[in-house]
Amino acid sequence: MKKIVFVVALAALFATPAKAQKTLQASTEKIQQNESTGTWFDAPAKQGKKAKNVIVIIGDGMGTAQVYASVVAQKGASNFLRFPFSGFSRTYSNNKYTTDSGAGGTAIVTGCKTDNRHIGVLSDNTPVQSILSKAKSWGLSAGFVVTSSVLDATPASTYAHAPDRKMYDTISLHMSQCGFDVMIGGGLANFRPENRKDGLRPLDTLMKKGYEITYSLEEMKRSKSDKLVTFFCENYYGPVAPGRDPVLTEGTKKALDILSKNPKGFVIMIEGSQIDWACHNNDAPYMEAELADFEKMLKIVLDFAEKDGNTLVVVTADHETGGLVLLGGNIDKGKNECKYTTDGHSGVMVPVFAYGPGAETFSGIQNNIDLMPKMLKAMGR
Ligand code: MG
Ligand code: ZN
Repeated sequence: MKKIVFVVALAALFATPAKAQKTLQASTEKIQQNESTGTWFDAPAKQGKKAKNVIVIIGDGMGTAQVYASVVAQKGASNFLRFPFSGFSRTYSNNKYTTDSGAGGTAIVTGCKTDNRHIGVLSDNTPVQSILSKAKSWGLSAGFVVTSSVLDATPASTYAHAPDRKMYDTISLHMSQCGFDVMIGGGLANFRPENRKDGLRPLDTLMKKGYEITYSLEEMKRSKSDKLVTFFCENYYGPVAPGRDPVLTEGTKKALDILSKNPKGFVIMIEGSQIDWACHNNDAPYMEAELADFEKMLKIVLDFAEKDGNTLVVVTADHETGGLVLLGGNIDKGKNECKYTTDGHSGVMVPVFAYGPGAETFSGIQNNIDLMPKMLKAMGR
């Protein structure tokens, strides 16, 4: 008898009351409705399959708070939710607890730690090759799309070798020699001889090498060339979102069109460059606009990778910027209550998201220099 009473009491304890059950069901439906339908369940790790293409995406300054601000701003229907694997990356540089984009970008694309401000070189200035340069040497195609100047630290770390990120004359010469198939970004001014200490004309070098150089997104879209450079703006610090020409989305589409023609595959680096600038400014609306742009680019990339089936997509950040804290908000209204705790970078771990062959290797806490070797391994290299 005692036992029966006990069992009944236990059952009562665990039975979900009808009202609670209804609420639970409603909120589950709401989540299903709001959130991206995604590919979480139907994208198992394709173990043993090699990645023909690698798309490495860097949200400059994009920590977990920035990513969550984007998830909320999208009212839960965020493309970040489409990644089946995620982890963290430790971002410290060779000489500083808090990295800059030079050392951070170099670590992600070359797999080597270096000192802050360095680009594609070790702390003793020994040049190191990026995964994009390696891809080119193996006969794959390579390229980048950024919303900063093409000479800014993040893109520069894919093709240049310099002890200081501000050596724009040197960096632009390296860009003109790197042989990447597509290079899209801003900062045309630094290529004009009258703005250079060396008076050289790296654009002439590019044209001699067979590149078509275009000066607007319209020209870029019309181009039939498979070797393409596009400047979407003149200035080093170009237009911001919202309102900027859609360089991140249209540039990504164009670059994928060109690069995917190579039957051997390709490696591309795509950067949401100005998430960092917005967070340096502690400007939440600017940051959210840049993240919204980043989301649209993610959709294009993930749709491509899903269709292709042989593409590894890795999204990460070089570091967090702004020490962003989300103190509240409203998911239904897409509103965040943002508070920044610095106008500089912070040293926290940043998120890593992965999709496609080899994606499962990016889970857990890893070092930023582990990312590039994992991409190579996924490619079977
Ligand atoms: Mg950058
Ligand atoms: Zn920064």
